[in-house]
Amino acid sequence: MSIVREEQSACEPSSPLALPVASLGVVKKTTLDQLERLGIVTVRDLLRHYPTRYDDLRSAVRIADLYAAPPGDVNVLGVIMQFKHVRLRGRIRSKSTALIEDGSGMLQAVWFGRPYLGAQLKAGMKVFVRGRVERTLTGPRMSVSQHRVVGDGDEFEGDLEPVYPLTAGLQSRTLVRLIAKALPRALRDDVASNELDPLPARINKSKHFKDARWALRAIHQPRDYEQAEEAKRRLIFEEFFLLAIATALRRAALKAEPAPDIGSVIDAAAAKRVGAEFRALMPFALTGAQARVIDEIVADMRRPAPMNRLLQGDVGSGKTAVAAAAVLLAARAKFQSAFMAPTEILAMQQFNKLSGALSAAGVRAALLIGGMRRRTRDDVLDQLRAGDLDIAIGTHALITEDVEFANLGLVVIDEQHRFGVMQRAALRAKARGHTPHTLVMTATPIPRTLAQSVYADLDVSVIDELPPGRSPVKTFVRPDGAKPKIFEFVRDEVAKGRQAFVVCPAIEESERAVHSAEEEAKRLQAEAFKGLRVALLHGKMTGQQKDEVMRLFADGFIQILISTTVVEVGVDIPNATVMVVLDAHVFGLAQLHQLRGRVGRGAEKSYCILVAPDGSDDTRRLAVLEDTNDGFVIAEEDLKLRGSGDVGGVRQHGGDDFKLAHLIRDFAVFVEAKKAAQAVVAADPHLRAPENRGLAAHLASLDREASIRASS
Ligand code: ADP
Ligand code: MG
Repeated sequence: MSIVREEQSACEPSSPLALPVASLGVVKKTTLDQLERLGIVTVRDLLRHYPTRYDDLRSAVRIADLYAAPPGDVNVLGVIMQFKHVRLRGRIRSKSTALIEDGSGMLQAVWFGRPYLGAQLKAGMKVFVRGRVERTLTGPRMSVSQHRVVGDGDEFEGDLEPVYPLTAGLQSRTLVRLIAKALPRALRDDVASNELDPLPARINKSKHFKDARWALRAIHQPRDYEQAEEAKRRLIFEEFFLLAIATALRRAALKAEPAPDIGSVIDAAAAKRVGAEFRALMPFALTGAQARVIDEIVADMRRPAPMNRLLQGDVGSGKTAVAAAAVLLAARAKFQSAFMAPTEILAMQQFNKLSGALSAAGVRAALLIGGMRRRTRDDVLDQLRAGDLDIAIGTHALITEDVEFANLGLVVIDEQHRFGVMQRAALRAKARGHTPHTLVMTATPIPRTLAQSVYADLDVSVIDELPPGRSPVKTFVRPDGAKPKIFEFVRDEVAKGRQAFVVCPAIEESERAVHSAEEEAKRLQAEAFKGLRVALLHGKMTGQQKDEVMRLFADGFIQILISTTVVEVGVDIPNATVMVVLDAHVFGLAQLHQLRGRVGRGAEKSYCILVAPDGSDDTRRLAVLEDTNDGFVIAEEDLKLRGSGDVGGVRQHGGDDFKLAHLIRDFAVFVEAKKAAQAVVAADPHLRAPENRGLAAHLASLDREASIRASS
């Protein structure tokens, strides 16, 4: 997006939308703080803070007609004539009474136990109250269950009062008032109106959308539900469209960067030879899926534009071998590779695998992790700088400043969802004169529908086949009562020389959850697993402690590992054959599938036992795992059940930045918006055409505001 910024920001006058909310007049500091907590800093943020629903003020009953209304809760809209608030001793704490008048009569409204009302309500305010009404000697009386202060005429027009997402202390009314101030200013201003419409006129026309100014007014101050819905449809499209534009620009920008020149060294014939050399190095025959994916990667790496590819493959599908092929190709073209894994133990495991496979081909590999001795580390750094190493495998230690490469051509990132965008960029920036090819690998299957959007700036390869001879992990859902039998089964497996995981229910690594894992561990150690070598692993341990425990488990010393959610994603412990998950119903299916992937990595038959309360809906949900081992099927199922929030990687890719749009619910709209965005960028890659001025200005100011935000 920076291409847009450079060209536009210099000449475009800055818009009133970019001004801070405080520019709207007297806004209290506490209000500004509250707004900031909602991410609202500028006027634009304010206008893009949309209502979640509307209260229909038309449904109010005239006070004169209250006795005739059907029994149950009713709504009344009126003005407070008198307000009294008293503190009470005891459990109820306070009582508030208001006399409300609506032109037809007078209503007595009563609240109990709302101590904050004293500071909120005053005579003269217009309020909307809801509650049950009873007949008293002094007239109708309502015990109020809900109420809201409604803006007066000049702030709020219409019968649908917007209800906004709030934060503690902030009142919806404050937002109504501020937005009422912001709207006319923004809508009047020419620059603002231009910026307000990110959708080119042609798109508005073909989709039959009214313009952005209309939509903004209609979402905040709709005349009726139809208007609100129409505005919402347009704004949802717009959110998707902007995401898709940003992605398309990023992709176009990357494609324009110079890549490591592998193509001129490795022609088609040479690529074939390297392929044959690689297959000869591997102790096994590649699966069809591995071979296909390697072909895709080799083709990418021989092109003049940098590769940016995501490799998805279920646990155990053999992604490391695919990465090794890419490393060998780079090395044959005299380029170095960097391989980054999220933890030391994973880095070590990958180092052993990669150097084991590639050293016979003369590929020189080194490990670079945090806990290394100074001298060793300096040695590795010298060799990397001199070009005496072909690949460095490590953790975050790879991105520290003093790590320099002679000629970095390939970056591989394992278990990518554990790294942020910045870390990836930092590693990529270690290449000089070109942008290295990048391969990111993940074992978290993203449903195809989501992958299209979330990873739209990446090309996606999928390994959809496991190496032969692997028998699927047998999975059982069992009730709590079966625990003694389950633990007996674990003991039997351990007696056969195998190892087991027991996962305890701690979704959050809170003190209490850790405590419960500790308790469980103690109990199991004292009873069910007496005499066995048992260890505990949880998120409150330091990285070093965790690595140490994992190492002891990997070495086979620890027989049973009790943990909260097991931290290590891709650790290969072929001797572990049992995964027991207690209270499995608190986990998502995809997460359980990940846990299950930690067993079944060796030749022995493996088991996954999911323990959950009997007969609940959850046991039916968990049964999906009994039926299938296909990560994609499971991810789709999970998505249907739980929405996108849980799918790994979605959040950090901006998939959660939508205010109105919902990727799953509005998927058809997304597809349309993406098509429209791609057409715009294809026809006008720098957004210079007059019809895209509004869009360009919009992106430029978003960009500008984002950088201001980041630096403040
Ligand atoms: P993941 O995709 O989970 O990273 P790995 O690359 O760690 O999987 O591979 C899992 C195991 O499968 C390793 O022990 C690896 O040596 C083995 N493996 C990979 N590819 C094949 C294959 N084509 N045939 C047999 N075994 C394979
Ligand atoms: Mg792996």
